[in-house]
Amino acid sequence: MRSITEYVSRRALGVDASGIRKVFDLAAKMKDPINLSIGLPDFDVPQPAKEAAIEAIRSGQNRYTQTQGIAPLCERLRKNLSAEIGRDVGDVLITSGVSGGLFLAILSIIDPGDEAIFLDPYFVMYKHLLTLAGGKSVPVDSYPDFRFPADKVERAITAKTKVLILNSPSNPTGVVMSPEEVAAAVEIARKHDILLISDEIYEPFLYAGLGTQASVPGGHAALPSPARIYDKTIILRGFSKSHAMTGWRLGYAAGPEEIIAQMTKLQQYTFVCAPSPLQYAAMKALDVPMTDAVAAYKRKRDIVYDGLSGAFELVKPEGAFYIFPKAPAGRPASDFVAKAIENNVLIIPGNVFSERDTHFRISYATTDEKLKEGVAILRRLAGK
Ligand code: PMP
Repeated sequence: MRSITEYVSRRALGVDASGIRKVFDLAAKMKDPINLSIGLPDFDVPQPAKEAAIEAIRSGQNRYTQTQGIAPLCERLRKNLSAEIGRDVGDVLITSGVSGGLFLAILSIIDPGDEAIFLDPYFVMYKHLLTLAGGKSVPVDSYPDFRFPADKVERAITAKTKVLILNSPSNPTGVVMSPEEVAAAVEIARKHDILLISDEIYEPFLYAGLGTQASVPGGHAALPSPARIYDKTIILRGFSKSHAMTGWRLGYAAGPEEIIAQMTKLQQYTFVCAPSPLQYAAMKALDVPMTDAVAAYKRKRDIVYDGLSGAFELVKPEGAFYIFPKAPAGRPASDFVAKAIENNVLIIPGNVFSERDTHFRISYATTDEKLKEGVAILRRLAGK
Protein backbone atom coordinates (compact mmCIF):
# COMPACT_ATOMS: atom_id res chain seq x y z
CA MET A 1 0.00 0.00 0.00
CA ARG A 2 1.22 3.49 -0.82
CA SER A 3 1.81 5.87 2.05
CA ILE A 4 0.03 9.18 1.63
CA THR A 5 3.27 11.00 0.78
CA GLU A 6 3.87 8.64 -2.12
CA TYR A 7 0.96 10.27 -3.90
CA VAL A 8 2.85 13.54 -4.12
CA SER A 9 3.99 14.32 -7.65
CA ARG A 10 7.61 14.66 -8.65
CA ARG A 11 6.58 18.08 -9.93
CA ALA A 12 5.55 19.21 -6.45
CA LEU A 13 8.56 17.59 -4.82
CA GLY A 14 10.83 19.32 -7.33
CA VAL A 15 9.92 22.70 -5.85
CA ASP A 16 12.16 23.40 -2.89
CA ALA A 17 10.82 26.21 -0.73
CA SER A 18 12.87 25.36 2.36
CA GLY A 19 14.87 28.63 2.48
CA ILE A 20 11.97 31.00 2.91
CA ARG A 21 10.13 28.56 5.19
CA LYS A 22 13.01 28.57 7.65
CA VAL A 23 12.71 32.35 7.87
CA PHE A 24 8.97 32.14 8.46
CA ASP A 25 9.54 29.55 11.21
CA LEU A 26 12.04 31.80 12.93
CA ALA A 27 9.75 34.81 12.53
CA ALA A 28 6.82 32.98 14.10
CA LYS A 29 8.78 32.77 17.36
CA MET A 30 9.57 36.50 17.51
CA LYS A 31 7.60 38.85 19.71
CA ASP A 32 6.93 42.29 18.18
CA PRO A 33 9.91 42.09 15.83
CA ILE A 34 11.36 44.95 13.84
CA ASN A 35 10.08 43.44 10.68
CA LEU A 36 12.23 44.37 7.69
CA SER A 37 11.21 41.31 5.72
CA ILE A 38 7.81 42.09 4.26
CA GLY A 39 7.39 42.63 0.54
CA LEU A 40 4.35 44.83 0.78
CA PRO A 41 3.76 48.53 1.32
CA ASP A 42 3.00 49.76 4.84
CA PHE A 43 0.21 52.05 3.59
CA ASP A 44 -3.33 50.80 2.98
CA VAL A 45 -5.45 50.59 -0.16
CA PRO A 46 -6.52 54.13 -1.20
CA GLN A 47 -9.93 54.98 0.26
CA PRO A 48 -11.71 55.59 -3.09
CA ALA A 49 -10.68 52.09 -4.24
CA LYS A 50 -12.02 50.55 -1.02
CA GLU A 51 -15.33 52.37 -1.49
CA ALA A 52 -15.48 51.21 -5.10
CA ALA A 53 -14.89 47.59 -4.04
CA ILE A 54 -17.70 47.75 -1.48
CA GLU A 55 -19.99 49.43 -4.00
CA ALA A 56 -19.16 46.78 -6.63
CA ILE A 57 -20.07 44.00 -4.20
CA ARG A 58 -23.28 45.78 -3.16
CA SER A 59 -24.34 46.34 -6.73
CA GLY A 60 -23.91 42.70 -7.64
CA GLN A 61 -20.58 42.53 -9.47
CA ASN A 62 -19.98 39.19 -7.82
CA ARG A 63 -20.04 36.79 -10.73
CA TYR A 64 -17.39 35.46 -13.07
CA THR A 65 -16.11 38.11 -15.39
CA GLN A 66 -14.88 37.39 -18.88
CA THR A 67 -11.70 35.33 -18.63
CA GLN A 68 -9.54 38.20 -19.90
CA GLY A 69 -11.01 40.67 -17.41
CA ILE A 70 -13.67 43.36 -17.58
CA ALA A 71 -13.52 45.27 -20.85
CA PRO A 72 -13.28 48.84 -19.43
CA LEU A 73 -10.26 47.87 -17.29
CA CYS A 74 -8.52 46.01 -20.12
CA GLU A 75 -9.13 48.92 -22.48
CA ARG A 76 -7.93 51.52 -20.03
CA LEU A 77 -4.75 49.61 -19.22
CA ARG A 78 -4.08 49.05 -22.93
CA LYS A 79 -4.50 52.77 -23.58
CA ASN A 80 -2.28 53.80 -20.64
CA LEU A 81 0.48 51.34 -21.45
CA SER A 82 0.39 52.15 -25.15
CA ALA A 83 0.69 55.88 -24.41
CA GLU A 84 3.57 55.16 -22.05
CA ILE A 85 5.62 52.94 -24.38
CA GLY A 86 4.84 54.87 -27.54
CA ARG A 87 3.21 52.07 -29.53
CA ASP A 88 0.26 49.74 -29.19
CA VAL A 89 1.18 47.36 -26.38
CA GLY A 90 -0.94 44.50 -27.76
CA ASP A 91 -3.59 42.60 -25.83
CA VAL A 92 -4.19 42.88 -22.10
CA LEU A 93 -5.16 40.08 -19.72
CA ILE A 94 -6.19 40.76 -16.11
CA THR A 95 -4.49 38.16 -13.92
CA SER A 96 -4.67 37.00 -10.31
CA GLY A 97 -1.72 39.08 -9.24
CA VAL A 98 1.55 39.25 -11.11
CA SER A 99 2.11 35.76 -9.73
CA GLY A 100 -0.83 34.62 -11.85
CA GLY A 101 0.64 36.43 -14.86
CA LEU A 102 4.04 34.83 -14.35
CA PHE A 103 2.51 31.38 -13.96
CA LEU A 104 0.46 31.71 -17.14
CA ALA A 105 3.30 33.29 -19.11
CA ILE A 106 5.78 30.60 -18.17
CA LEU A 107 3.31 27.78 -18.81
CA SER A 108 2.44 29.32 -22.18
CA ILE A 109 6.05 29.71 -23.30
CA ILE A 110 8.20 27.01 -21.73
CA ASP A 111 8.36 23.44 -23.01
CA PRO A 112 10.27 20.81 -21.02
CA GLY A 113 13.96 21.44 -21.54
CA ASP A 114 13.57 25.09 -22.62
CA GLU A 115 15.89 27.51 -20.87
CA ALA A 116 15.06 30.84 -19.26
CA ILE A 117 17.71 33.35 -18.26
CA PHE A 118 17.33 35.81 -15.41
CA LEU A 119 19.75 37.74 -13.24
CA ASP A 120 20.95 36.45 -9.88
CA PRO A 121 19.81 37.79 -7.36
CA TYR A 122 16.30 36.99 -8.58
CA PHE A 123 12.69 37.02 -7.42
CA VAL A 124 12.18 33.54 -5.94
CA MET A 125 9.14 32.59 -7.95
CA TYR A 126 10.93 32.47 -11.34
CA LYS A 127 12.94 29.41 -10.43
CA HIS A 128 10.04 27.47 -8.99
CA LEU A 129 7.62 28.24 -11.82
CA LEU A 130 10.23 27.20 -14.36
CA THR A 131 10.69 23.94 -12.47
CA LEU A 132 6.92 23.36 -12.55
CA ALA A 133 6.91 23.89 -16.31
CA GLY A 134 9.82 21.47 -16.79
CA GLY A 135 12.06 24.30 -17.94
CA LYS A 136 15.61 25.06 -16.92
CA SER A 137 16.53 28.14 -14.89
CA VAL A 138 19.73 29.83 -15.99
CA PRO A 139 20.59 32.45 -13.36
CA VAL A 140 23.32 34.88 -14.44
CA ASP A 141 25.38 36.34 -11.62
CA SER A 142 25.09 40.15 -11.42
CA TYR A 143 27.20 40.73 -8.29
CA PRO A 144 28.62 42.99 -7.00
CA ASP A 145 26.77 45.98 -8.50
CA PHE A 146 23.66 44.15 -9.81
CA ARG A 147 23.86 46.02 -13.13
CA PHE A 148 22.82 44.17 -16.30
CA PRO A 149 25.87 42.06 -17.26
CA ALA A 150 25.30 41.97 -21.03
CA ASP A 151 28.39 39.86 -21.85
CA LYS A 152 27.58 37.23 -19.23
CA VAL A 153 23.95 37.10 -20.34
CA GLU A 154 24.98 36.61 -23.96
CA ARG A 155 27.38 33.83 -22.98
CA ALA A 156 24.57 32.04 -21.11
CA ILE A 157 22.47 31.74 -24.27
CA THR A 158 22.18 28.31 -25.87
CA ALA A 159 20.03 26.88 -28.66
CA LYS A 160 17.44 26.11 -25.97
CA THR A 161 17.13 29.64 -24.59
CA LYS A 162 13.61 30.84 -25.15
CA VAL A 163 13.12 33.72 -22.79
CA LEU A 164 14.96 36.34 -20.79
CA ILE A 165 13.12 37.45 -17.64
CA LEU A 166 13.87 41.02 -16.59
CA ASN A 167 12.77 42.52 -13.29
CA SER A 168 13.26 46.25 -13.00
CA PRO A 169 12.88 47.77 -10.41
CA SER A 170 14.30 44.62 -8.88
CA ASN A 171 13.27 42.52 -5.95
CA PRO A 172 15.60 42.04 -3.99
CA THR A 173 18.18 44.67 -5.04
CA GLY A 174 16.11 47.77 -5.85
CA VAL A 175 18.22 48.29 -8.97
CA VAL A 176 16.48 49.93 -11.95
CA MET A 177 17.81 49.15 -15.41
CA SER A 178 19.02 52.25 -17.25
CA PRO A 179 17.79 52.91 -20.81
CA GLU A 180 21.25 51.79 -22.01
CA GLU A 181 21.01 48.50 -20.13
CA VAL A 182 17.51 47.94 -21.47
CA ALA A 183 18.84 48.61 -24.99
CA ALA A 184 21.64 46.08 -24.42
CA ALA A 185 19.15 43.44 -23.21
CA VAL A 186 16.92 44.06 -26.22
CA GLU A 187 19.87 43.86 -28.60
CA ILE A 188 20.72 40.42 -27.22
CA ALA A 189 17.10 39.31 -27.40
CA ARG A 190 16.83 40.48 -31.03
CA LYS A 191 20.10 38.91 -32.08
CA HIS A 192 19.19 35.52 -30.59
CA ASP A 193 15.46 35.75 -31.24
CA ILE A 194 14.46 35.51 -27.62
CA LEU A 195 11.24 36.58 -25.95
CA LEU A 196 11.33 39.00 -23.02
CA ILE A 197 9.19 38.80 -19.91
CA SER A 198 9.43 42.14 -18.15
CA ASP A 199 8.28 41.92 -14.54
CA GLU A 200 7.45 45.55 -13.79
CA ILE A 201 5.44 45.07 -10.61
CA TYR A 202 7.41 47.80 -8.79
CA GLU A 203 6.87 50.24 -11.65
CA PRO A 204 5.62 53.28 -9.72
CA PHE A 205 8.42 53.09 -7.14
CA LEU A 206 11.12 54.96 -9.05
CA TYR A 207 13.27 57.46 -7.20
CA ALA A 208 15.89 58.80 -9.61
CA GLY A 209 15.03 62.35 -10.61
CA LEU A 210 11.62 62.06 -8.95
CA GLY A 211 9.43 64.95 -10.05
CA THR A 212 11.75 65.99 -12.88
CA GLN A 213 11.47 63.17 -15.41
CA ALA A 214 8.71 62.68 -17.92
CA SER A 215 5.70 61.47 -15.99
CA VAL A 216 3.21 58.74 -16.76
CA PRO A 217 -0.52 59.09 -15.92
CA GLY A 218 0.07 58.11 -12.27
CA GLY A 219 2.29 61.18 -11.87
CA HIS A 220 5.58 59.37 -11.20
CA ALA A 221 8.66 58.96 -13.35
CA ALA A 222 8.39 56.75 -16.45
CA LEU A 223 10.05 53.33 -16.41
CA PRO A 224 12.48 52.45 -19.20
CA SER A 225 10.55 49.33 -20.21
CA PRO A 226 12.01 47.07 -22.91
CA ALA A 227 8.52 47.03 -24.43
CA ARG A 228 9.25 50.54 -25.75
CA ILE A 229 11.75 49.14 -28.22
CA TYR A 230 10.98 45.42 -28.52
CA ASP A 231 7.57 44.10 -29.39
CA LYS A 232 8.38 40.51 -28.35
CA THR A 233 7.99 41.66 -24.75
CA ILE A 234 5.37 40.53 -22.28
CA ILE A 235 4.85 43.21 -19.67
CA LEU A 236 3.66 42.06 -16.25
CA ARG A 237 2.36 44.68 -13.88
CA GLY A 238 -0.06 44.74 -10.98
CA PHE A 239 -1.77 46.54 -8.17
CA SER A 240 -0.26 44.61 -5.22
CA LYS A 241 2.63 46.97 -4.64
CA SER A 242 1.48 50.16 -6.37
CA HIS A 243 -1.81 50.35 -4.46
CA ALA A 244 -1.02 48.11 -1.46
CA MET A 245 -3.47 45.47 -2.61
CA THR A 246 -1.42 42.31 -2.12
CA GLY A 247 -4.47 40.47 -0.82
CA TRP A 248 -6.71 41.55 -3.68
CA ARG A 249 -4.81 39.45 -6.22
CA LEU A 250 -4.86 41.76 -9.19
CA GLY A 251 -2.30 42.04 -11.93
CA TYR A 252 -2.15 42.29 -15.70
CA ALA A 253 -0.17 41.02 -18.62
CA ALA A 254 0.22 42.88 -21.90
CA GLY A 255 1.94 41.92 -25.10
CA PRO A 256 1.75 40.02 -28.37
CA GLU A 257 -1.75 38.83 -29.11
CA GLU A 258 -0.66 35.22 -29.80
CA ILE A 259 0.93 34.77 -26.37
CA ILE A 260 -1.78 36.63 -24.44
CA ALA A 261 -4.36 34.39 -26.16
CA GLN A 262 -2.59 31.28 -24.87
CA MET A 263 -2.34 32.76 -21.38
CA THR A 264 -6.06 33.59 -21.49
CA LYS A 265 -6.87 30.02 -22.51
CA LEU A 266 -4.86 28.65 -19.60
CA GLN A 267 -6.47 31.17 -17.24
CA GLN A 268 -9.86 29.86 -18.32
CA TYR A 269 -8.99 26.43 -16.89
CA THR A 270 -7.05 27.53 -13.82
CA PHE A 271 -7.86 30.89 -12.23
CA VAL A 272 -11.00 31.42 -14.41
CA CYS A 273 -10.84 35.17 -13.86
CA ALA A 274 -9.37 37.74 -11.49
CA PRO A 275 -11.67 38.72 -8.58
CA SER A 276 -14.68 40.45 -10.11
CA PRO A 277 -15.58 43.30 -7.70
CA LEU A 278 -11.92 44.15 -7.29
CA GLN A 279 -11.49 44.62 -11.02
CA TYR A 280 -14.13 47.37 -10.80
CA ALA A 281 -12.33 48.86 -7.82
CA ALA A 282 -9.04 48.80 -9.72
CA MET A 283 -10.54 51.25 -12.22
CA LYS A 284 -10.96 53.68 -9.34
CA ALA A 285 -7.48 52.94 -8.03
CA LEU A 286 -6.05 54.05 -11.37
CA ASP A 287 -7.47 57.54 -10.72
CA VAL A 288 -5.56 57.89 -7.45
CA PRO A 289 -2.09 59.39 -7.90
CA MET A 290 0.42 57.50 -5.76
CA THR A 291 2.97 60.31 -5.82
CA ASP A 292 2.91 60.87 -2.04
CA ALA A 293 3.51 57.18 -1.35
CA VAL A 294 6.41 57.12 -3.78
CA ALA A 295 7.92 60.23 -2.18
CA ALA A 296 7.56 58.61 1.27
CA TYR A 297 9.36 55.52 0.04
CA LYS A 298 12.15 57.61 -1.39
CA ARG A 299 12.62 59.08 2.09
CA LYS A 300 12.68 55.58 3.60
CA ARG A 301 15.22 54.53 0.98
CA ASP A 302 17.40 57.43 2.10
CA ILE A 303 17.03 56.55 5.79
CA VAL A 304 18.12 52.98 5.22
CA TYR A 305 20.83 53.73 2.65
CA ASP A 306 22.38 56.60 4.61
CA GLY A 307 22.00 54.65 7.86
CA LEU A 308 23.80 51.56 6.63
CA SER A 309 26.48 53.32 4.58
CA GLY A 310 29.92 52.86 6.05
CA ALA A 311 28.85 49.76 7.98
CA PHE A 312 27.93 47.56 5.00
CA GLU A 313 28.83 47.27 1.33
CA LEU A 314 25.72 48.62 -0.41
CA VAL A 315 24.26 49.37 -3.81
CA LYS A 316 21.95 52.39 -3.66
CA PRO A 317 18.45 51.27 -4.72
CA GLU A 318 16.72 53.44 -7.33
CA GLY A 319 13.36 51.71 -7.09
CA ALA A 320 11.08 49.17 -5.35
CA PHE A 321 11.43 49.08 -1.54
CA TYR A 322 14.34 46.75 -0.94
CA ILE A 323 18.04 47.05 -0.33
CA PHE A 324 20.47 44.14 -0.59
CA PRO A 325 23.54 44.77 1.59
CA LYS A 326 26.56 42.51 1.82
CA ALA A 327 26.85 40.80 5.20
CA PRO A 328 30.08 41.34 7.14
CA ALA A 329 32.87 39.28 5.61
CA GLY A 330 34.16 36.01 7.00
CA ARG A 331 30.98 34.02 7.51
CA PRO A 332 27.86 33.08 5.54
CA ALA A 333 25.23 35.81 5.35
CA SER A 334 22.67 33.37 6.75
CA ASP A 335 24.65 33.34 10.04
CA PHE A 336 24.49 37.12 10.19
CA VAL A 337 20.74 36.96 9.49
CA ALA A 338 20.28 34.45 12.34
CA LYS A 339 22.11 36.86 14.63
CA ALA A 340 19.91 39.77 13.49
CA ILE A 341 16.80 37.69 14.16
CA GLU A 342 18.11 36.83 17.66
CA ASN A 343 18.32 40.60 18.12
CA ASN A 344 14.70 41.02 17.04
CA VAL A 345 15.37 42.33 13.52
CA LEU A 346 13.73 40.23 10.84
CA ILE A 347 15.60 40.27 7.52
CA ILE A 348 15.85 37.66 4.77
CA PRO A 349 19.04 35.78 3.91
CA GLY A 350 20.25 36.47 0.37
CA ASN A 351 20.46 32.78 -0.46
CA VAL A 352 16.67 32.76 -0.74
CA PHE A 353 17.12 35.01 -3.83
CA SER A 354 20.48 33.81 -5.02
CA GLU A 355 22.95 31.02 -5.56
CA ARG A 356 25.22 32.95 -3.16
CA ASP A 357 25.01 33.26 0.62
CA THR A 358 26.76 36.60 0.99
CA HIS A 359 24.03 39.24 1.24
CA PHE A 360 20.70 39.87 2.95
CA ARG A 361 17.49 41.62 1.96
CA ILE A 362 15.91 44.46 3.84
CA SER A 363 12.44 45.64 2.98
CA TYR A 364 12.13 49.27 4.04
CA ALA A 365 8.34 49.19 3.71
CA THR A 366 7.81 50.00 7.38
CA THR A 367 7.56 53.05 9.60
CA ASP A 368 10.49 55.47 9.68
CA GLU A 369 10.87 54.76 13.43
CA LYS A 370 11.13 50.98 13.03
CA LEU A 371 13.50 51.50 10.16
CA LYS A 372 15.83 53.69 12.23
CA GLU A 373 15.74 51.19 15.11
CA GLY A 374 16.49 48.29 12.77
CA VAL A 375 19.34 50.17 11.10
CA ALA A 376 20.94 50.95 14.49
CA ILE A 377 20.81 47.28 15.53
CA LEU A 378 22.24 46.05 12.22
CA ARG A 379 25.10 48.60 12.47
CA ARG A 380 25.87 47.40 15.98
CA LEU A 381 25.88 43.75 14.85
CA ALA A 382 28.32 44.71 12.09
CA GLY A 383 30.56 46.20 14.81
CA LYS A 384 30.00 49.82 13.67
N1 PMP B 1 7.22 39.85 -9.11
C1 PMP B 1 8.00 40.35 -8.15
C2 PMP B 1 9.36 40.84 -8.52
C3 PMP B 1 7.55 40.41 -6.82
O1 PMP B 1 8.35 40.90 -5.86
C4 PMP B 1 6.25 39.93 -6.51
C5 PMP B 1 5.70 39.94 -5.10
N2 PMP B 1 6.58 39.94 -4.07
C6 PMP B 1 5.48 39.41 -7.55
C7 PMP B 1 5.98 39.40 -8.83
C8 PMP B 1 4.08 38.86 -7.32
O2 PMP B 1 3.22 39.79 -6.81
P1 PMP B 1 1.63 39.64 -6.82
O3 PMP B 1 1.31 38.25 -7.20
O4 PMP B 1 1.17 39.99 -5.45
O5 PMP B 1 1.11 40.62 -7.83
